Amino acid sequence: MSAKTILYVEDNEVNRRLVQDLLIPTTYRLIEATDGESGVAMARKERPDLILMDVQLPKISGIEATRTLRGDPAMASTPIIAITSFALAGDEQKALEAGATAYMAKPYSPRDLLGLIRRLLPEGEAKA
Ligand code: MN
Repeated sequence: MSAKTILYVEDNEVNRRLVQDLLIPTTYRLIEATDGESGVAMARKERPDLILMDVQLPKISGIEATRTLRGDPAMASTPIIAITSFALAGDEQKALEAGATAYMAKPYSPRDLLGLIRRLLPEGEAKA
């Protein structure tokens, strides 16, 4: 059984490191992109099983990237978790309207994020 792949689209290196650390003890495989445009391109190429999408991104926003991916039949039902900023009111609603499955507002507890990931994409049995 191949590992379930999570694509994390995030421009902030510290946040990427946190999620890398969060997923180390799991069986998920993590791939990353650092702006909205390359996030869309990587999603189309790699067909991840779940996408973590930061909203505030260079080039195209996470909202627009989510909308674009939802327009692609191959990505129509892929779980997308929007990572919103608590300070920016309205982002949650925009993300859901664009097609995000769920959202997590920053600052979030890593434990909560992992719980949400596992709920939307149950982890495989054994570490490959
Ligand atoms: Mn960002």
